[in-house]
Amino acid sequence: MMRRLRLAIPNKGRLVEPTVTLLRDAGLVFEAGERALVARVQNFELDILFVRTNDIVEFVCDGVAELGITGLDLVAESGSSVTQVRKLGFGRCRLTIAVPNDSPYRAPADLAGLRVATSHMNLTKRYFAERSIPVDVIPVSGAAEVAPRLGLAEAIVDLVSTGSTMVVNGLRPIEEVFESEAVLLANPKALEQDGAVLAQVETMLGATLAARDRKYLMMNAPETKLAELEDLLPGLESPSIIPLAHKGMVAIHSVVEADAVWSLLPRLKAAGASGILILPIEKLVP
Ligand code: AMP
Repeated sequence: MMRRLRLAIPNKGRLVEPTVTLLRDAGLVFEAGERALVARVQNFELDILFVRTNDIVEFVCDGVAELGITGLDLVAESGSSVTQVRKLGFGRCRLTIAVPNDSPYRAPADLAGLRVATSHMNLTKRYFAERSIPVDVIPVSGAAEVAPRLGLAEAIVDLVSTGSTMVVNGLRPIEEVFESEAVLLANPKALEQDGAVLAQVETMLGATLAARDRKYLMMNAPETKLAELEDLLPGLESPSIIPLAHKGMVAIHSVVEADAVWSLLPRLKAAGASGILILPIEKLVP
């Protein structure tokens, strides 16, 4: 009998929606109630624990959950010994040094002797220590962007994705400290004991993510145009060519990057393709 594993995911904040969507897209069936702490996955040996984004690394490190999904910045900040199984492609952001627009500071070295407010104490201290820039790191639990205005610090180190929070607060980025995105974590001991099930979860999520970026293209074309069309369609390996009942005509099937589809279509048509179908891919295991 397989042991039921626990996956800790954020219960609040910006990582909730993309995390729950990924798990559902992966085919896991569960109820995510507003206040539920645990959800039982109905079609897989997994329980989902809804916890604070900030607590997930600790939960996985302590073995309260075998698996977790949280931001890579929080993993790096904690310095805990959890295994990063894979990046998940959402929750992308950059831990960035920023200063008020009207300040004279242009580079991290200009901040020597000054105060830097952040909720990422360890990453910030390490960054400045590695460059031998002496700064006073001021801990804040959130909203670091208001620290300069409150006179708490001359600079901040905070997460930025679009940059609009910085703009609204009259701040200008001067340097990137760390690049982050959501990651799947595992407890190292659990990886040894339950490696097979954990690998299943990884494959499940990986196949779901890989499928999101690709489309399945089907089209008809005269056999004489095959070489030209094949050049346009790298596919996963090479496109499949299927003879059609109509002599001299073939069907071509190929997997392409989703982002490339729109620029590809006119070129395929110009090269002789017709009846082009674009289909979603549900799961993809390379
Ligand atoms: P939360 O504070 O619960 O919304 O989640 C914070 C986590 O979301 C951070 O630790 C990052 O991993 C991630 N994140 C992604 N984009 C941003 C952003 N622009 N600002 C803050 N956190 C972000």
